[in-house]
Amino acid sequence: MRAKGKYELVSELARRRGFFWQSFEIYGGIGGFIDLGPLGTKLKHKLEDAWRDFFLKRSGIYEISTPIINPRIVFQASGHLESFKDPMVECSKCGRKYRADHLLEDAIGTKFEAIGLEAIDAEIEGKGLACPECGGSLSKSRYFLTMFETTIGPYSEAIGYARPETAQGIFIDFKRLYEIARGKLPFGVAQIGKALRNEISPRQGPIRLREFTLMEIEFFFDPEEECEALGEVGEEVLRLVPASSRERGIEEPIERSVREAVREGIIINGWLGFFMAKSKEFICGLGIPEERQKFHEKLPNERAHYSAQTFDHEVLLEDWGWVEIAGHAYRTDYDLSRHSAFSGQELRAFRAYERPRIAKTLKVVPDEAKMREAFGERHKAVMEALMRAEPEEVKRSIESRGYFEALGEKVGPEHVSFRSIEVKETGRRFIPHVVEPSFGLERIMYAVLEHSYSTKGDRVVLRLPKKVAPIQAVVLPLVNSKDLEGKAKSLWEALLEAGFDVEYDDSGSIGRRYARADEIGVPIAITVDHRSLADGTVTLRERDSWKQVRVRAEEVPRCLRSYLSGDLGFEEVGSS
Ligand code: AMP
Repeated sequence: MRAKGKYELVSELARRRGFFWQSFEIYGGIGGFIDLGPLGTKLKHKLEDAWRDFFLKRSGIYEISTPIINPRIVFQASGHLESFKDPMVECSKCGRKYRADHLLEDAIGTKFEAIGLEAIDAEIEGKGLACPECGGSLSKSRYFLTMFETTIGPYSEAIGYARPETAQGIFIDFKRLYEIARGKLPFGVAQIGKALRNEISPRQGPIRLREFTLMEIEFFFDPEEECEALGEVGEEVLRLVPASSRERGIEEPIERSVREAVREGIIINGWLGFFMAKSKEFICGLGIPEERQKFHEKLPNERAHYSAQTFDHEVLLEDWGWVEIAGHAYRTDYDLSRHSAFSGQELRAFRAYERPRIAKTLKVVPDEAKMREAFGERHKAVMEALMRAEPEEVKRSIESRGYFEALGEKVGPEHVSFRSIEVKETGRRFIPHVVEPSFGLERIMYAVLEHSYSTKGDRVVLRLPKKVAPIQAVVLPLVNSKDLEGKAKSLWEALLEAGFDVEYDDSGSIGRRYARADEIGVPIAITVDHRSLADGTVTLRERDSWKQVRVRAEEVPRCLRSYLSGDLGFEEVGSS
């Protein structure tokens, strides 16, 4: 019999115990959607909280929530309408549609990201590829927009799209957020929420979804300032696959400290390096070892349209190979510039100089009498329009074309003169730059489950990190007896009262209940037995070692808290 792969084992466990399963099951299921069951939902909340705790709490990054549906203009401005598309081919016989680069990858075994339609068609023809399902011939490739389209209200012209990333909601709100940050840079804004991508042919369960959860930070900073936080993480060593290696066909990671990587220009921005180091630390904290992580730089033609440099933070999964769980992009001032141009709103930051500076600037001086003569009643409005324009632009236009057009009137050299004046400048206005760490929650959840999955004899033990275990402890009466059940229930209630995620379980033999607790990753099982009635002590059993210690029932909340926070090891809990 074929040995089951890890993905199959984890998925079976996930279905059986209520972590996740395919959505719309009773109607045959639809690829790219999963439901989270009771344990999966709890795990999701714990992962979100762990992420908030790690990235937001101490660093003054604000969290906001913005709509999933956005009007068309948002994605015109962001460039997604033009660029957020994947290549697709269709089988002429069975009508199945495939994401063309993935079809090539499956058939040939190498990555084909962003290769362009002509190159795809040439590969398909050259290799004589056909429909993997029915052998039919494949169409020429074309692009498919992977944003879900809808209308906003009953007006067919009011087109809206479901967001493929949460980032745009943050950029649109920049002006307000900057005020809330009291006009200080750098600052970050986070958003956790659903993102939708109409993937063409998703087949990898929780890895490739059409609806998934993003945890994103847009971090705004002054590009002329050094990253002040690099010192905090500078010595952290990252495993990097730079684009310069990949261009030479090398996919082996190199090791560099963040400081070295920034100094050598492998990572082109300090804040990008800072968040990559934090990203590694966060993922290590979820039980995924360093050697199963790497940062894979995208080649220029593979990068999203907004990015000057992107590293995919990848983890190694048994069946899927290296999978991106987070993207780190240097989005520069791209998004804010575009939204500023499309909305006509000022989206710049202001940085005061230490001391005001005297700068020379050009001033347009209109000759009011001449303008009245030329433009009659409109002369005042024309003058105002002229004064709103950039003086340099007015001068350039008059010098090159002989006039500057204001409100449809031609303002010529006879109407204006120019004067160079000195002004006191108190600071500079600029569009902040942005780095974006973007984490996919469901992929992280799956990676954590896979790395926690272990067996001991014929038992499955899910060694979930304590901080994200959906159930922190389970209280078990040793056997079914009124006395034991009563004592166990009151301990369970005390633990609930103390704020723990704790379950009570009295169904089945104690062995089966321990097995179930191990399988769903409960770090501590608490057993109430006959001795508990006599001396008030209960047994704590550790999931990972199966060791047991006895403590007084009233001490359990304190012991559990110290153990779960990592302050006490299991042996110390017993003797504390
Ligand atoms: P991206 O903006 O494409 O870099 O995506 C950011 C993160 O979202 C990735 O690192 C993944 O963790 C996650 N992600 C992207 N696409 C999907 C998908 N189709 N299904 C599940 N997670 C995804």
